[in-house]
Amino acid sequence: MSRSLIRQQVLHFEPYCPGLSIEEIKERYSLSSVIKLASNENPLGASPKVLQALEKQLTEVYRYPRTGSPRLRQVLGAYHGVPEDRIVVGNGSDELIDLLIRVAVEPARDHILAFQPCFNIYRLQSKLCDVAFHQIALRSDFTFPMQELLEAVNDATAIVFLTTPDNPSGFAPLVEEVLGLHHRLPEDCLLVVDEAYMDFAVPQERYSIMSLAGRAPNLVVLRTFSKLYGLAGLRLGYGVMPARLADYLLRVKLPFSVNVLAEAAGIAALDDDAFRSETIRTVIQGREMLTHALGKMGFLVYPSQANFILVKPSMAASELFEKLLRRGIIIRPLTNYGLTDHLRISIGNAEENRALLWAIQDILSP
Ligand code: PMP
Repeated sequence: MSRSLIRQQVLHFEPYCPGLSIEEIKERYSLSSVIKLASNENPLGASPKVLQALEKQLTEVYRYPRTGSPRLRQVLGAYHGVPEDRIVVGNGSDELIDLLIRVAVEPARDHILAFQPCFNIYRLQSKLCDVAFHQIALRSDFTFPMQELLEAVNDATAIVFLTTPDNPSGFAPLVEEVLGLHHRLPEDCLLVVDEAYMDFAVPQERYSIMSLAGRAPNLVVLRTFSKLYGLAGLRLGYGVMPARLADYLLRVKLPFSVNVLAEAAGIAALDDDAFRSETIRTVIQGREMLTHALGKMGFLVYPSQANFILVKPSMAASELFEKLLRRGIIIRPLTNYGLTDHLRISIGNAEENRALLWAIQDILSP
């Protein structure tokens, strides 16, 4: 029997669809400046303390990093008040999602459960690993039908992925609801709570389950340095989980996936309280301002605890997206999430937010 050179899962793989890049749009429309509000990046850029730390670390790039990023794990351990053997650092939290699927799920036997729509990487990496991926539809207002999710859990459910605040809606359930879900899951089913956007929830204690992470046997909480810390391009994320699971992840993780610059930047970023507070202030102010202003323009704006908002515009979403692109503003269409009438807008700095509103105003009534 002949064998294809490429695995079936790869032949039929639909790659992740990222936000358009500034360079692409500059070239396509001959624009000199472009505003990107498509990938939920930090509206203030990166912290000055991080840039200084990176400069100092540049001469070290000829060295391999230490496996497992022990210095960063130590700092993160102190930051969250958990022993460092319960923390795994990865090349973005994307790497941790991939590792968790490889480590905790038996392909021919188990399945993974999540809501629909959800962050696409869960589904894509499951598919690549030949793992069945089941989804429960969110309610029409994007809130979570937890009971339905629980009813879909059975002996074969190896992981439940829960994103809070959710992408692409910005919705966050109260922590009691997440605790209730965790409590009712079987002990051999891992609850992976992806808190990539938790830093922007107010107040965080009402929503985050982090204080239980590392203590419960079947709970993992994921965080990223890509949003609050402005390090999306360096690729850095982490998970807090039981020590035994962390040990297995570290055994199979590629040894140097977190590079020397990323580790140094992560440590410096955790030390910059002023930049963190300023980012949170900018995002919350911008979120309130855009929610109010777009609402007044007739958009349906969903309540968000994240650094982006989900909107249903008062005109065709695809047309608004294209018209904004021509004016040099990139936002996120959601067709690959199955949402053709909605758009996701990252919160920018004050100037970017104003430019967005001017452009939309101009498109709606030229
Ligand atoms: N989880 C969610 C819900 C996200 O939206 C993202 C970023 N788009 C990630 C994880 C991955 O983040 P990172 O940049 O750390 O890989």
